[in-house]
Amino acid sequence: MDCLIVGAGFAGAVCARELADAGHTVLVIDKRKHIAGNAYDRLDAHGVLIHQYGPHIFHTNSDKVFEYLSRFTEWRPYEHRVLAVPDVRSGRSYPLPINRTTINQLYGLDLDEAGIAAFLERSREPRDPIRTSEDVVLNSVGPDLCNKFFRGYTRKQWGRDLSELSGGVAARIPTRCNDDDRYFTDRFQAMPLHGYTAMFERLLDHPGIDVRTGIAYEQIVSSADCRMTIFSGPIDAYYDHRFGPLPYRSLRFEHEHLAGTAQLQSVGTVNYPNDHDYTRITEFKHLTGQQHAGSSIVREYPSADGDPYYPIPNPANEALFKRYEALAEAENDVYFIGRLAQYRYYNMDQVVAAALALSRRLNAEHAVTPAHAHYQTTASAALGA
Ligand code: FAD
Ligand code: UDP
Repeated sequence: MDCLIVGAGFAGAVCARELADAGHTVLVIDKRKHIAGNAYDRLDAHGVLIHQYGPHIFHTNSDKVFEYLSRFTEWRPYEHRVLAVPDVRSGRSYPLPINRTTINQLYGLDLDEAGIAAFLERSREPRDPIRTSEDVVLNSVGPDLCNKFFRGYTRKQWGRDLSELSGGVAARIPTRCNDDDRYFTDRFQAMPLHGYTAMFERLLDHPGIDVRTGIAYEQIVSSADCRMTIFSGPIDAYYDHRFGPLPYRSLRFEHEHLAGTAQLQSVGTVNYPNDHDYTRITEFKHLTGQQHAGSSIVREYPSADGDPYYPIPNPANEALFKRYEALAEAENDVYFIGRLAQYRYYNMDQVVAAALALSRRLNAEHAVTPAHAHYQTTASAALGA
């Protein structure tokens, strides 16, 4: 084959399709037994569509990314909403991101937008420069809202204090003075109509793409014969952790089916910043629109051990990543792409955009020549393909 792609998630699958569309032959492997990476969804034993690796809500401002994926799926419009329960004893839940309703309900007020802006101006602790996630939160909402909604959740999610994480982590959550209670404000917010796995099946359905799941790179590296390799696993693992392990945060997903409960909670996700060992409960039927007499949920328990899910953004980790990145940049025909390989807290759309950029560059650099195409055809015929 021309190209070996390690990982059948967004990074690997988009690169595979782009290279195959340009005439390359591609082998995609994944050590898991399925495609779609962390976006993998499936019917559970009760027939409810669940996301095996936690809730995945698609949102983007990129026309290019949305149009690209629309070649492989129809969409179901969906705007995600989240409630947070800062104290389970009171049981009260509030919209997150913090908005006008959150503040009015929490403090028994009836402020308009200008009143909320003035409230936040009085509450916030201005910080300059803004470096850490603590700076971000204190600078925008001040200590009380920080302690109710952010400090405990962050400690649980990351095993670190807000002050030990780069500002970009908490900056994912805006603060609003209006009544907008959507989690995201992107122009495109939608779920693949038949699920992510079905979308990946179409993405990878190409005569130039061979997909083998249940195979780890380490099993085949010595026998792989290809012109280039695209690696979307953890970059430190590729280099045998030679500079030491890059820290990743893991999660344990506890799935549960609630027979006879048509709806457990009023929104897709409820966050528990200050109670329980789990961070949040997601009820999938909100995301998928599926009708079913029962409901399936997932609780997310953060942990230090287990599969790597999140790079942990802070200056020390970013410096360590740079050392691995320098090795990667010195490679001739090996390319690193995706959330684990680039050690970036990427959303799905950002991975798609990065994969499109990489594969289009590779297609320009490694154009399929007529002679090369002839060789492929002959080789395929010889293999009986
Ligand atoms: P992955 O999906 O991780 O794919 C990499 C693949 O490589 C994996 O399947 C892995 O098995 C395989 N692999 C690794 N090493 C090897 C090896 N040595 N040999 C063979 N195969 C290997 N993004 C959003 O936009 N919206 C959301 O709502 C959202 N929610 C999320 C919730 C959770 C709990 C998590 C963890 C992430 C969420 N994301 C969300 C982020 C999203 O999952 C990622 O941006 C995206 O899936 C990354 O794609 P990827 O291809 O880089 O990596
Ligand atoms: N966060 C928080 N409280 C919340 C929700 C989020 O403190 O109720 C912080 C926390 O540090 C979290 C980060 O904001 O890791 C990003 O949240 P997001 O929901 O984007 O996380 P993801 O869906 O990627 O796990």
